[in-house]
Amino acid sequence: MKYRIIPVTPFQQNCTLLWCEQTMKAAVVDPGGDLARIKAAVAEESVELEKILLTHAHIDHAGGTAALARELELTIEGPGRDDEFWIEGLPKQSEMFGFPDVEVFTPDRWLEDGDRVSFGEVTLEVIHCPGHTPGHVVFYHRPSALALVGDVLFQGSIGRTDFPRGDHATLIRSIREKLFPLGDEIDFIPGHGPMSTFGMERQTNPFVADRFG
Ligand SMILES: [Zn+2]
Repeated sequence: MKYRIIPVTPFQQNCTLLWCEQTMKAAVVDPGGDLARIKAAVAEESVELEKILLTHAHIDHAGGTAALARELELTIEGPGRDDEFWIEGLPKQSEMFGFPDVEVFTPDRWLEDGDRVSFGEVTLEVIHCPGHTPGHVVFYHRPSALALVGDVLFQGSIGRTDFPRGDHATLIRSIREKLFPLGDEIDFIPGHGPMSTFGMERQTNPFVADRFG
């Protein structure tokens, strides 16, 4: 599997294009907006986009989903059903943050812990990691030891939990009990900012480092 990070929206959200090197079939994770930039990356990499995968339904992650899915006839998988209220609230989120008009959508498939999603010959494992939003999921590609964690964990920080149905203790548990056990060597692409590894965060992250546990 190969990947390319495409920062989108005024929040510089790390939308990520993933593709299978054998078939060149691709999925895009969290197309929050700036669809021209995403489509340019798809063309430059000469991949065939077939799916949208969503970690959660905040506007900077999911805002471009409906338009992109319709234009390119893509299926939408994720997030967890508990994020449905955030999808229904996309127009309100858009208004609040000054984003362009956004449409609501219904995913073709809601995702649950233990599910698998695939494109080409690539399979990703789905890990439910609530706390930032109740239906937040993480995508894990075991063969390349890479996780796409959305707004669960960042280099040196964690996701906000001051939104409706956010919960700090739940988020910490998601990170410590579901992500860290995957292994110190796992690289992760967060929803914002630079990549890191779970091992580095276990050592240095002031919210979830082992010594604060
Ligand atoms: Zn978020």
